[in-house]
Amino acid sequence: MKLKNKVLGILKRISKDFDLKFDEKDIGILILEKKDVILLNYILSPMFTSFGKTPEERIKNIERFLSSEEFKKLMRKKYHGGVGKNLFRNKKLRKIAEKYIPELLRKIPDTKFIAYSIPLEEVALHESIHCLLMVNKIFLPKPELNEALTNGIMRRYLKW
Ligand SMILES: [Zn+2]
Repeated sequence: MKLKNKVLGILKRISKDFDLKFDEKDIGILILEKKDVILLNYILSPMFTSFGKTPEERIKNIERFLSSEEFKKLMRKKYHGGVGKNLFRNKKLRKIAEKYIPELLRKIPDTKFIAYSIPLEEVALHESIHCLLMVNKIFLPKPELNEALTNGIMRRYLKW
């Protein structure tokens, strides 16, 4: 079975077991190659402000990022994934993305949130559970608590 469908199936079961809202219009699961996952994190997360303060600016500076040491270092790491609001639904951002990253843009579904990951079940499920919790507005006050909750749920559904 395709990884995406497998993760969707597990996510549906989790939402049923925990009585959470689940709508495929809200949650987009993307299984991508490592480079694309790194690029989405680069664009969406505020960790890369040295390449631009806004996602728009960061997209425009993508060539600079691709030839940076930071990018090379990230490519050497094994695990990559992320989750967030789907900013690509914004018209202005879409237009810029169409110019700079048309191929990646085409892979992004028109959902409220996106969870993206390399083709590895643990990572894909982890990010998707984050996404399910976001959609249901479940946020614990500390990032490490959110991680613990996500991993705790994941352990119940992953067969190790
Ligand atoms: Zn996490």
